[in-house]
Amino acid sequence: MRTDQEAKQQIIQITNELFEMGLLTPTGGNISARGADPELYWITPSQMYKGGLSADDLVCIRPDGTVCEGVTKPSVEYQMHWASYQARPEATAAVHTHAPVATAFGITNQTFPPINTDAIFLADTRIVPWFMPGSKELADAVGEALKVSRGAILQCHGLMTVGKTMRDAATRAMMLEETAKIVLYCKQFGGELALIPPEWVERLAQFASFM
Ligand SMILES: [Zn+2]
Repeated sequence: MRTDQEAKQQIIQITNELFEMGLLTPTGGNISARGADPELYWITPSQMYKGGLSADDLVCIRPDGTVCEGVTKPSVEYQMHWASYQARPEATAAVHTHAPVATAFGITNQTFPPINTDAIFLADTRIVPWFMPGSKELADAVGEALKVSRGAILQCHGLMTVGKTMRDAATRAMMLEETAKIVLYCKQFGGELALIPPEWVERLAQFASFM
C-alpha cells in the first residue's frame, strides 16, 4: 500500500516519462494511482498540459468523480480508470496513453504474432471499438477487456493498462507501443515473418504474468 504522497510522486514521474517518450499528447492521456484509502484514487487533471504537471495539479477523487482533495478538474476519463480498478482488484495504478503506433495498430485491427518475447506476453491484448471518450460506455467496454488482459487498445483513441504497481502499468503501456512498432516495421519490410516456434511460445507464455 502506498501513501497519498507516494501515489502523487509516482503519477508525476510516469507522466513525465510517457510524455518524453511521445506516448502522451499535450493534453491527451491520463494516469491514476490508488493512495492510502482504497476507495479513492489520485488522477491527472483535465485539459492541462501534460509536459509540466506537479503534485499540486493532481486530484484525489471518489468513484463518481467528485473531488475529495485537490483544486483542479479531474480527467474526464475518471470512469474508465475506476472501471479498470474494478476489473482488476489487484491493480493499484492505471495508465491511459495516446500512443500513436499502438493506436494505429488498433484502428487497423492488427494482432501480435510471436515475433519476440514481448509480443507473446502481449498476445492477450484486447482491442476495444470506439466509444465517446469520457463515456460510461467506453468505461464499461474497457473494464470488460481488462478482465481478459491487463492491457487494452482503444480504437481511434489510445490504450489503457493496469498493474499491480505503477511501474508494471507503465511498462505494459510502453511495451505495447514498442511491440506495435516492430509489427509495423515487419509489415513495411514486407518479407516472410520468422516467428518463434510454437513450443517456445507456449513455454514463454507462462512468464506473461510477471507484469
Ligand atoms: Zn484519451
